[in-house]
Formats: sequence, structure tokens, C-alpha cells
Amino acid sequence: MSNASNNLSTKNMAISGSPTLAIDAKFKELKANGEDALGFGVGEPDFDTPLHIKQAAIKAINDGFTKYTPASGTLTLKKAICAKLKNDNNLDYTPAEIVVNNGAKHSLVNALSAILNPGDEVIIPAPFWVSYPEMVKIADGVPVVLPTTEENNFKFTLQDLKNKISAKTKAIIINSPSNPTGMIYTEDELRDIADLAVEKGIYIISDEIYEKLIYNGKHVSIASFNDQIKDLTIIVNGVSKSYAMTGWRIGYTASNAQIAKIMSNIQSHMTSNPCSISQAAAVAALEGDQSCVDEMRAEFLKRRNYVVEAINKIPQISCLNADGAFYVMINISKVFGTTLNGVKINSATDFCNALLDAKKVALVPGEGFDAPNYCRMSYATSISTIEKGIARIDEFLNGR
Ligand code: PMP
Ligand code: GLU
Repeated sequence: MSNASNNLSTKNMAISGSPTLAIDAKFKELKANGEDALGFGVGEPDFDTPLHIKQAAIKAINDGFTKYTPASGTLTLKKAICAKLKNDNNLDYTPAEIVVNNGAKHSLVNALSAILNPGDEVIIPAPFWVSYPEMVKIADGVPVVLPTTEENNFKFTLQDLKNKISAKTKAIIINSPSNPTGMIYTEDELRDIADLAVEKGIYIISDEIYEKLIYNGKHVSIASFNDQIKDLTIIVNGVSKSYAMTGWRIGYTASNAQIAKIMSNIQSHMTSNPCSISQAAAVAALEGDQSCVDEMRAEFLKRRNYVVEAINKIPQISCLNADGAFYVMINISKVFGTTLNGVKINSATDFCNALLDAKKVALVPGEGFDAPNYCRMSYATSISTIEKGIARIDEFLNGR
């Protein structure tokens, strides 16, 4: 190594790669090598993007809508987002308060960059989506983990939250429905969090990307309670999960106009606008017939029911019934200390590696979610794949 390599960005050298994307890459490599691998790693709907959305993109190309757009997104898409926020969440935003980004991942980094100064703390309830702590660090903040327990349905109590708040707390990330636990905060719980945030002047980053994937009841946005909490909230949402549009890379934020302006300015230098064609497709997604969303949710619900029942039939492992999103956290702590397929299992990573080697089944080990007793299983894949996968997990554990 040259001397220059000792002098690279200390901050960015400390950022780890996404473990969910790493598992997916490993799974895809096995598939490419002709292995009969089953992937439950990455959280990506297996459905094709609905036809009317694809047609809107094709039309955009044919119409020559292939040039730069305003950095923060087209007015047409921003208006469609405002209408969505009004209809679904009873929230009034103007286009100046909306920023369209290259996926919700990008929205989150932009939002954190807009509000954080070096050393500001961001509270992240655990188990958390793997990217949150790294995003906070990218934005010069300090992630502060707020642990929860399975006994409390992976939710924190208001007292737990109060205990983590310090003079440096700038924001808290709320992800309901949650990746990876599928947990949902009730309206009353969200109200309590909102009141505390207003009292303390803390921002809420409300990641609502799984809003449409709730199996019982309706989503409530924390921003909708009153003007004070709305002013402190940055809603993050997008089309990836609701409309099976992961590859199109469209996410968005709704915030106060000052924060939106900062985000828009950052984006204008970093990436310019999100893809013009994808923006046209996102308009069709938001304004078009929503029955595709209902159909996908109904299918996810069938899978959720199957997964929860089948996992809990296997003696050594268990999972809670997820209320939303398309993940379950499988508790594998009883397996620790045992030997499976000749491998001593002392961690979730050991378990996932041994399972992948022996049975070609990809799960994500819990360490990246700050949940070392668990593996995450995504059920965004067909029932027949899920059936085969869980049967293989049973064989792996019970030598059948
Ligand atoms: N938030 C959560 C909780 C997620 O699981 C994901 C999944 N990638 C994202 C944000 C980012 O979504 P996008 O594909 O729009 O970047
Ligand atoms: N959010 C999804 C997941 O958790 C997609 C992968 C990623 O963006 O990291 O698996």
C-alpha cells in the first residue's frame, strides 16, 4: 500500500457497506453459478412494476422527456406527492416543501445532512434498518442506539426514549412499519412521541416507506397531529416498496420549506435531479389506479401468515407476528452453542453462513440490525420459494 492510502478520509473509511446488499450479492452469485439458492435476504418486492407505470415511462421517453429537470423534482410529481399526502395522511404540504430524491435512501441522507451539525446525536431505536447509523455518520452526526425487546414487541417506551435524550439530541428516526421487525407504533404511541419531541425541540425523521404494507388498520403519519410536530418532522417515503419500483430510484421528503431548500441545494450539487423518466413513472404510480397496491398487499399478507406459522412450528426458532412491511425477525438464540452441519454456531452470522453453505438459503444475520439473537427473513418472494426455504431451514436444524 502506498503512503497516500494512510491519508484517506477517516470518516468515510469507518462507513461499512450495506449487509443486506452484500447478502443479496452473495445469493445472486450462487444463482449465477447455477446453484439452487433461495434468497430471503434483500427487501425487494418480487412483483413486476405495474404495467401502467411502465407505460408512463415509455411515453416519457418517446415524448423526449429525457433532459434535466429541476434538482428537487418536477412540479408535476411534487403536486402528485402533495395530493397523496393530503388524501392518505390528511397533511397539507406545498410543492416548495417537497424534495424528490434518488430513492428513499438518498432522501434519508439528504434529510440528515440538512439538519445535523458535527457531534449532533440521532436516536435510532433498535433493531434498526442497517443503513441508519451509517447515514447519520455520513452526515457527521453520532448515532445513539435505543434498544428494545421482543417482549415489548420491539417497541421502546416513552421512558426509554426520555432516558436517551441528551443536550446533543437533534433527531430521532421513527420507522413504522419497521424494517426489520414489522412492528407498527399505534396512533397513541406516536402522539406521545410527538408531544415529547415538541417539548424538547427534537426533529423526527419519519421513514414511512412501508406505509402501504400494513396488514391490519391504516397508517398514521406522526406529522399529522399538529403544526408544531409537522414543522419538526421530515417525512421520508417513496415508490420502491409500494409499487415494486426498487430499480427506478425515486424517494421523496416532505418537511418545512427551509429544510426542503437546504436539501434541494445539496442535491443540486451532488446529483442534480432524479431520473426524469422515473419521475414520470412515479406520477403514474401516485395518480393511477391503486388496486395494484391492494393486490400486492393481499399477496404479502398470505405470505406473512404462512411464514409466521411455519417458522413457529420449528422447535428451535420463533418469530413474532409482523404487523407490516415484509420481514420477520427469527429468534435463533436457542441454537447458539450447538453444532449444525459440522459448524459450531455462536452467532447469527455463523448461523446464516452455515445455512447458506449447507442449504443455499440466504437470510440476513441480525448483527447489522443491532439484533444479534436474530436473523431477518424477507418474505417478498413467492409462496413456493418460501415453502421450500422454510423446509430447508427445518432440515438444517433437525437433520431431516
Ligand atoms: N427505508 C427503509 C426502512 C428501507 O427498508 C429501505 C429499503 N431500501 C429504504 C428506506 C430505502 O428505499 P429506496 O429503495 O427507495 O432507497
Ligand atoms: N431496504 C431493503 C432491505 O433492507 C433493501 C436493501 C437496502 O436498501 O439495503 O433489505
